[in-house]
Amino acid sequence: MTAEYESTANETPVGKTKYPKGMALLQNPVYNKGTAFTPKERELLGLQGLLPPEVNTQEEQVMRVMENFNKKTSDLERYVQLIALQDRNETLFYRVVMDNLETMMPILYTPTVGQACQEFGHIFRRPRGLYISLKDKGNIAKVLKNWPHRDVRVIVVTDGERILGLGDLGVFGMGIPIGKLSLYTACAGIHPNYCLPITLDVGTENEGYLKDPLYFGLKERRIRGAEYDEFVDEFIAAVKKVFKHSIIQLEDFANINAFRVLNSIKNKFCSFDDDIQGTAAVAVAGVMSSLKITGGTLADHKYLFLGAGEAGIGIGDLLVYSIMKENGLSLEAARQRCWFVDSKGLVVKSRTDLAEHKRHYAHDFPFITDFQAAIEAIKPTAIIGVSGKARMFTQPIVETMAKLNPHPVIFALSNPTSKAECTAEQAYTWTEGRAVFASGSPFPPCTYNGKTYYPGQGNNAYIFPGIGLGVIACDAKLIDDEMFYASAKSLAEQVIPEDLALGRIYPALTRMREVSAAIAVAVAESGYATKLARAERPADLVAHVKSLMYDPTYQAYV
Ligand code: NAD
Repeated sequence: MTAEYESTANETPVGKTKYPKGMALLQNPVYNKGTAFTPKERELLGLQGLLPPEVNTQEEQVMRVMENFNKKTSDLERYVQLIALQDRNETLFYRVVMDNLETMMPILYTPTVGQACQEFGHIFRRPRGLYISLKDKGNIAKVLKNWPHRDVRVIVVTDGERILGLGDLGVFGMGIPIGKLSLYTACAGIHPNYCLPITLDVGTENEGYLKDPLYFGLKERRIRGAEYDEFVDEFIAAVKKVFKHSIIQLEDFANINAFRVLNSIKNKFCSFDDDIQGTAAVAVAGVMSSLKITGGTLADHKYLFLGAGEAGIGIGDLLVYSIMKENGLSLEAARQRCWFVDSKGLVVKSRTDLAEHKRHYAHDFPFITDFQAAIEAIKPTAIIGVSGKARMFTQPIVETMAKLNPHPVIFALSNPTSKAECTAEQAYTWTEGRAVFASGSPFPPCTYNGKTYYPGQGNNAYIFPGIGLGVIACDAKLIDDEMFYASAKSLAEQVIPEDLALGRIYPALTRMREVSAAIAVAVAESGYATKLARAERPADLVAHVKSLMYDPTYQAYV
């Protein structure tokens, strides 16, 4: 993969590629190497005098970045530092992030990105990505063409209405597409020039932002109904015209729009919704690998969800698909394994207030309003928290799960950390160390009865970068359920006994690149098997996938 570059007047031809020159080069984040430009490069590229004389290696530059990073007194300051680096020197940014993924992920993504979004207009320095507002209606294709790179392969788009568990942040939600695309590159090596973050500004209901002078989105109420659909339809059609080979990843849309938008595009465009399908794959992978501790098959377990929104129903649907595939159950029988409690209570047949996406799971059972009572009646082996409501897995609830099961599966997936249904420490303490625990945001290791547990994070970043790389590798025309199933299975297979011994049902984040590459191979294999792949199958798919992965090592210009 070579970086694409549109020429400017101030440039120098080196070999076949034209690079910007002098100050323009130092201000171009794609090509800038800062103090690492060699004396020869400085001479040829007009950099003499513009840099201090001593040449640094990339390792020395990383040392400088980390020294500053460690001096910062808050995670938000660390976020600002990293984004500023990304705007100055992309190669160094990715070197730092890839070499310190475990440290960087909670800064670039949940939980810190949540705070960064809340304050986005206040910490804003340089624009990144495309903002497409209602004012651009009728002209969206033209706006897309303003993006400097034409071979875009992954677009992450939000309308900012349901950012993490933080609600409507309007255009301040842009931090999410930016963060997710950084992870596409850091985890799966998708070239930064292939990545485009987009925010659709369709207004906001955030009262604070409507009055905030530093809020830079439209200060209008959100549009709804047909007007909203027309705007989104124009956007999707424009993307397909301008960026023909791009995946469209829907991100943090509120569930009143998310399911409808996804259902209207998923069979026509190469697209997916990460909150629904990416979350599903990472959670199902967690369930698959927890079987190594609990025993039994997917069909032997009973899953009770707290929350029946995008994440909950997405996980339920992929679990059902997986149970049918692996255990041969009928659709109806597989759905009987999944139970949901929403803000009103247990999702059952007698309810008349159920949104379309929940109705498949409305079982013939008495209505129960209380989660604890639902546990006692249904006797689940796993509870999965995706309610966005903090500390809903109380001590009596977790203790009941521990009474019912030798190894209760407890997933507290709500983000950010402050919204998790329980903490790792609570899950282990209240089950006397028997819980199989995973969370959405990271928790530090905790010790119970002399044993230290390293709680696994059901981070979507285990899945979406590998999906993206796999789709690019085989040039898939669509992304189907089979690909998400393949990605979940591949992720679960990569959990090694050493992970399980530490209480972790996901691989270590330090193995992210190899994990993403393996997922990409599984996804591309699925694409070839179902004939969704448009590219010819390479003789060596593994080598092909690896050859596509961006390496943030400086290239020599001369
Ligand atoms: P959503 O708004 O679509 O759904 C929330 C659901 O929770 C709704 O069904 C609602 O009725 C229910 N709910 C609200 N209050 C409740 C209560 N008191 N008791 C029971 N149910 C209640 O949101 P979503 O997209 O499904 O996301 C939910 C949470 O999951 C968020 O915090 C999000 O950050 C998290 N999430 C985690 C991951 C991950 O861990 N990888 C991925 C995606 C989403």
